[in-house]
Amino acid sequence: MLAWYRAQQRDLPWRHTRDPYRIWLSETMLQQTRVENAIPYYERFLERFPDLASLATADEDQVLKQWAGLGYYARARNLKRAAETVVRDFGGVVPQDPERLRALPGVGPYTCGAIRSIAFGQQAPVVDGNVRRVFSRLLAEKSPPDALLWRAAHELVVGPDPGLFNQSLMELGATLCSPRRPDCRPCPVRDACRGRATGDPSSFPEAARRKPPRAVQASCAVLRRPGRPSQVLLMRRPSKGLLGGLWELPSHDSLDSDGLAAAIRDRSGLLAEPGDRLGKLRHAFTHISLTLSVIEFEHVGGRLRGRPAEDGSRARWCGPAARRDLPLSALMQKSLRLARL
Ligand code: SF4
Repeated sequence: MLAWYRAQQRDLPWRHTRDPYRIWLSETMLQQTRVENAIPYYERFLERFPDLASLATADEDQVLKQWAGLGYYARARNLKRAAETVVRDFGGVVPQDPERLRALPGVGPYTCGAIRSIAFGQQAPVVDGNVRRVFSRLLAEKSPPDALLWRAAHELVVGPDPGLFNQSLMELGATLCSPRRPDCRPCPVRDACRGRATGDPSSFPEAARRKPPRAVQASCAVLRRPGRPSQVLLMRRPSKGLLGGLWELPSHDSLDSDGLAAAIRDRSGLLAEPGDRLGKLRHAFTHISLTLSVIEFEHVGGRLRGRPAEDGSRARWCGPAARRDLPLSALMQKSLRLARL
């Protein structure tokens, strides 16, 4: 595996470092995100936050801005909180002790194993989706339990370079041992592979049955500032939950424009009435298929409240420069374009 990996590995930016912060960042980004999408984000993030100290002292909006478009924003919020903890409690040095690592926000068994093995050279196992597929084929197990996979990873990561070994397993799953058509001929472990011996390695592991995404209708308001029409009302979502901490046009979980007006009032103090419907946008999240109706609103009274609303959301008027600086989801950017903003 090591010889194959040394010869065949893809040249990826995080493979030129053993800096635990950079390894941690790359492993966090790569959960739920494809390698080619993660690369430009990884490079931009490091330009803006080159080390843990700069991330720890950064404003959360700026951190989310660098993450905007990658999705699963809890990853960015956790990374920032973990950076604060490392700077405050460990003098800015990422702890090598697994218990301390696991206690950091967002660090699960996979991230912990990846940091320990790749950055610190410890014999720590990793199991991600790629490793799961490789093991399930090697063992010809249709649905191997997690405990079996972790035990296998633990027993195998005993050689001289555990970081390289773990990366070789993940690389095998990401390249030759692909989900649909594994390319077994050049595979370094083909002679040991029971799945290949069955003649149908792609039938391992059994595909998990996914629930179809839930259809959700929602609406958002384009409310321009009286006398300054290039500015619109944006709100910061509460930190927890879907798109937590991102800024958006005021929104409501239904097509009911009165409900949207009430949401604007409750969360900003402004009174507004619905006008034209500008259009509908569709967006697929993992569990939700969203249809968002974008509605023009007119300000009819009330004053913008300075303090955050009860749910932790905040509201402000934003011109073009502020909109460029704030973290907005891809869907909100589309909504603004629909309103020609
Ligand atoms: S022999 Fe084929 S199925 Fe088995 S691990 Fe290698 S690529 Fe995957």
